[in-house]
Amino acid sequence: MPTDVFDVVVVGGGGAGLAAASEAARLGRSVVLLEKNPEPGGSTSWSVGSITATNTPHQKRAGIQDTPQEHFEDLGRFAGSLAPRDNLALRRILVEHTNEIVDWLMAHGVVFVGPVPEPPHRYDRMHNVVPNSRSFAYHLARHCRSLGVDIRVHTHVSRLVTEGKRVIGVEARHAGGAVRQFHARGGVVLASGDYSGDRTLKTEFVSADLGEVDAVNATNTGDGHHMARELGAVVLNGDVISGPIMRFIPPTRANLLRELPPWRPLACLMAWCYEHLPPWLLRPFLMSFLTTALGASPNLFKHGAILVNGSGERYTDELGNPNLDTAKQPGRMAWIVFDDEIAQRFSAWPNYVSTAPGVAYAYLADYRRNRSDIYHQSGTLLGLARSMGVPEESLARTLEDYNATGRQARAALATPPFYALGPVKSYVIFTDGGLKVSERLEVLRGDGSVIEGLYAAGATGQGGLLLEGHGHHLGWAFISGRIAGRNAAFDVPPRAK
Ligand SMILES: Cc1cc2nc3c(=O)[nH]c(=O)nc-3n(C[C@H](O)[C@H](O)[C@H](O)COP(=O)(O)OP(=O)(O)OC[C@H]3O[C@@H](n4cnc5c(N)ncnc54)[C@H](O)[C@@H]3O)c2cc1C
Repeated sequence: MPTDVFDVVVVGGGGAGLAAASEAARLGRSVVLLEKNPEPGGSTSWSVGSITATNTPHQKRAGIQDTPQEHFEDLGRFAGSLAPRDNLALRRILVEHTNEIVDWLMAHGVVFVGPVPEPPHRYDRMHNVVPNSRSFAYHLARHCRSLGVDIRVHTHVSRLVTEGKRVIGVEARHAGGAVRQFHARGGVVLASGDYSGDRTLKTEFVSADLGEVDAVNATNTGDGHHMARELGAVVLNGDVISGPIMRFIPPTRANLLRELPPWRPLACLMAWCYEHLPPWLLRPFLMSFLTTALGASPNLFKHGAILVNGSGERYTDELGNPNLDTAKQPGRMAWIVFDDEIAQRFSAWPNYVSTAPGVAYAYLADYRRNRSDIYHQSGTLLGLARSMGVPEESLARTLEDYNATGRQARAALATPPFYALGPVKSYVIFTDGGLKVSERLEVLRGDGSVIEGLYAAGATGQGGLLLEGHGHHLGWAFISGRIAGRNAAFDVPPRAK
């Protein structure tokens, strides 16, 4: 088997892997980063890009005096009933390092705006990246390359290689078919993201129904979790999952804000505009982003909107758990159907169609302007059915039945024009089950013993840490990545350094 030897081997090129690789390389180690996709980024590049942090330059400029201790306490309030399952030692590490990680990202070219509020945080702490979340991987991959990290894409790691009980490397297959081993004189860092795209683990930890629900990032298939479990590692909080929630299918046309190159001068210009231009001037840009990335508020259903599938049939109680049922429909999709009374209500505060917390709110007119591909409106039900591409008579019959018998206390859908938004699909956004790890990010067996030579970071190394609220996952990815990279680098035996 052809074999390459490095000081540190990093599996996965999302936020955690890039942070780990750069930290090990900064310490003078030779590092290879193996990424199965055509480019680094992972869920980090799919994210909205919020990082919740204290004591940042942004907070100081806004006159906010905040502390990691207060952040620690507020995180407990987000956790709610899950709180007893939290890993408080890892939570401490997270809150103690957020300002350092924002500074570090900014030093490498990432630009943030904010902070914005997100109760129950007692202070404004959420910082949002501009122009988009691809900025993280763009700047960190450049930084890694400048430090000599060997980034190999199209390289799928399939197995951990051991000598006795110690992990000494990995086996990987290049997309071209060649299989190679990569040995580490120091440590191997698993930073392969979560298992939102893996039917087996979703079924094992939650249910067979959830196993069938698509992931936003379908390529995160829990590979690191699977490989580490073969060596006795355990997954904590495997049932804690974000989703399933309904999101509109992605637009067929590219979205300007998502496509903007994450160059620093452009990002600085955008940050300046964000801080100085009046909201009415900024709104169209924010809306083009919001209506691309998000789903519909469940409030629409409370006000009487219904869900129909591709056969024009209502298939679920919208006020029950429609997300799992949506995943079982033909093509796994559905449409949200409503009349003009509901449309008028969802045209102004407080009834928004979508929101990115702390960023902005999108109303129905924003979808008409920005998402003509999923916006349907007609004076008649037949016209609406035609626009949606569902059988005309079936949709008319569905509304007739609903108005006659199915609507409980909700108002009838009877006031034209009629509207539909869709297709929507149910998605798992991310999973929170991470390998049990030490505070040094070493992977642990169920009995607490260390699997020598193996570290985990980011979603793979979440270790039972709860990251409720927005902006904690990315923070954890970068923070834990750097710690794991550093410790994997320190594992290199002195003679080999
Ligand atoms: C739509 C969406 C919005 C989000 N918004 C936010 C937000 O605003 N703020 C926030 O804090 N969090 C957010 N999150 C969560 C956050 O993005 C993730 O928790 C975080 O990016 C995880 O980082 P990571 O490095 O652990 O994993 P990832 O970024 O997913 O990176 C894992 C990498 O490993 C690679 N990989 C996997 N298996 C292998 C293998 N076998 N061999 C080689 N490579 C492999 C993957 O291809 C991927 O590139 C969001 C997530 C989603 C999906």
